[in-house]
Amino acid sequence: MHLTYLGTNALLIRKAGTTVLVDPHFTRPRIWHLFGKISANPRAVAAGLEQNGVDRLDGVLLTHTHYDHALDAAEVLRQASGVLYGCGSAMNLVNHPGLDKQKITPGRRYQIGALTVVFHSSLHLPFPSLIDWLLPMDGQISRPLETPAWFWHYAVGRVWAIQVDQTLIFGSAGYLPNSYKNLDIETVVLGIGGLDSQPAAYLENFYREAVLNSGAGHVLLSHWDNFFKPAKQVDKPHFLVRRAITRIQAFGKKHGQKVDLLKIQEPLLIKPSGEWKPSHFAAG
Ligand SMILES: [Zn+2]
Repeated sequence: MHLTYLGTNALLIRKAGTTVLVDPHFTRPRIWHLFGKISANPRAVAAGLEQNGVDRLDGVLLTHTHYDHALDAAEVLRQASGVLYGCGSAMNLVNHPGLDKQKITPGRRYQIGALTVVFHSSLHLPFPSLIDWLLPMDGQISRPLETPAWFWHYAVGRVWAIQVDQTLIFGSAGYLPNSYKNLDIETVVLGIGGLDSQPAAYLENFYREAVLNSGAGHVLLSHWDNFFKPAKQVDKPHFLVRRAITRIQAFGKKHGQKVDLLKIQEPLLIKPSGEWKPSHFAAG
């Protein structure tokens, strides 16, 4: 399986002719754009797909429906087809006839070409109170969303840890206790955005649930960038996740997992054992 990190929690996964995108986010609105309504930028989406040699997708998988995970979902489907998989809120992001979507059932196995995908119930990282007021943790998109929309209209929806073969992807650093045992996981992708807002004990619990309970030997960190900047201008982790990175590396050392920061636009070849090496996947 080839995995390319595209910034925020956007992950491009390819295996044997099957291509899926998790949480596509090519538009990356600048912070001041959030003072107005936002929508997907078709040119940014086209450029992102082209840069990665994607002309056709089999699936778009959403961990939740905050705008930094879901803003581009419908535009990606429009340009590259494929089926949107997600919760009821995700279904309300795609309202054009001709675009395919499937509301998923937790725990069910979906065969998407060569990939086996299971959505496991999870939770979002708790937000500080001001953000929680704008984006409550239990908010849903309860009717078809017209765009442009305010960013808080992209309510969280249901949150999933998405299993793709032996890889378990957390788009947000939240967890549902005792939910990821016995899943046959080798690699965990942890979206660590905002994690420095939490006390050390929270991070320890998250690591235990997501990594130790799932039995993974490899940990890849995503959602570490400043997603208000264009991806190609990102050169180091956002200051609000640096302490979390250090702590996760220490947990990995203590418990015997290999921890790596995913690099933007650097494809990895992940073996079934979870071992990875740089992939020379030829785009296009
Ligand atoms: Zn979120």
